[in-house]
Amino acid sequence: MAYIAMARKWRPRSFDEMVGQEHIAQTLRNAIATGNVHHAFLFTGTRGVGKTTSARILAAMLNCTGEKKPCSECENCKAIVAGSSLDVLEIDAASNNGVDDMREVLEGTQYPPMNGKYRILIIDEVHALSKAAWNSMLKTLEEPPSYLVFIFATTEVNKVLPTILSRVLRFDFKRLSPLQISKRLSFICEQEGVKADLGALAIISEKADGSMRDALTIFDEVFAYSGKEINIEAVQSALGIPPDILYFELIQAFEAHDAKKSFEILESAMAAGAEIQVFLDGFTRFLRNFLYSRLGLSAEQLELSQETLDKLKELAPTFEQGDILRIAKIITELREKCSARHGLNPRLLAEAEFSKIAWLDRVADIGKVLQSLNGKVPLNEESQKKIGGFTPATTATATAQSSSGAAAGKFRLAL
Ligand SMILES: [Zn+2]
Repeated sequence: MAYIAMARKWRPRSFDEMVGQEHIAQTLRNAIATGNVHHAFLFTGTRGVGKTTSARILAAMLNCTGEKKPCSECENCKAIVAGSSLDVLEIDAASNNGVDDMREVLEGTQYPPMNGKYRILIIDEVHALSKAAWNSMLKTLEEPPSYLVFIFATTEVNKVLPTILSRVLRFDFKRLSPLQISKRLSFICEQEGVKADLGALAIISEKADGSMRDALTIFDEVFAYSGKEINIEAVQSALGIPPDILYFELIQAFEAHDAKKSFEILESAMAAGAEIQVFLDGFTRFLRNFLYSRLGLSAEQLELSQETLDKLKELAPTFEQGDILRIAKIITELREKCSARHGLNPRLLAEAEFSKIAWLDRVADIGKVLQSLNGKVPLNEESQKKIGGFTPATTATATAQSSSGAAAGKFRLAL
């Protein structure tokens, strides 16, 4: 049997199956239940978050003859899923954006629906319509026949004319969180009999950047590569992502102020075929997990194995949270520079920034320093280095010389 792309096979057929857009689902369900149906909807949001899918679900809800709408079983529901319903017309404005295209489409809406209660016109990428095309539609939008429902979808709502915006019911679709994407992928794996590590799905979800469709496309790639057992290594190999071990080594090189070692790690990642942007994305994800491991998040919350979380907790003990944040900031800026087209060699840029990180002084935890200055906790050797060899013994002298301990504390704070 031919392989069906996951995005197609697992396209939700009802709002119950849809992830992350509950606010929209609830409003539309209420509208259908009360029979209070607006004649024009606008679905906006970034790509792959379910706008077109929702338009089809809404069309099915409007024309379904079953009890629970959409029932997925009546003739109308089946025809809409198959894309063969005569009452639902779906066009892509990106390729049909002229005034003649629109006239033709509108002509088709003059007649009442054949099988369902409504005739539904879904216009995808609606911002791409020419001004003349919009104008030709305006009259119908103002005084539509009672059976006609428009559903517009767009990724660029700022390009939709105000006269149109004022006549539609607008719904803003949210980007999906990696956790929402992971959960859906887990569910699909279960249904497909695929055994997948949480960490492997987390990498896919992260890479999908808020888009369920992208997540499923990446999942297809990985599935083609590794079959029914999907682990972290398989995902990394299939997507050209460097293995985590490299990032553990990289952070250790930074901790040891070893710029040369950090260059070697970058070299080995690139030699293995990783693109520099992909390498940096992976490192950003790693730093996030590293930071969160310090904040006490659980393996489940971070979608990591317990083993990886334990390793992260033990990693680079001299790094404070402030150090991790500073590195993350440098890497994020470097990532931007590497994707901007200014002709500089990304490899050289990366090496320059890696040197900077390797030679950074460590941040001292201000709370610990102050406590120590007040004589409560002796600073360990590493912390003393961080504050430039300033030792508690000096503090004790300063405290003794000043008129009161409180004054000494204040004096030190002012430093
Ligand atoms: Zn139905």
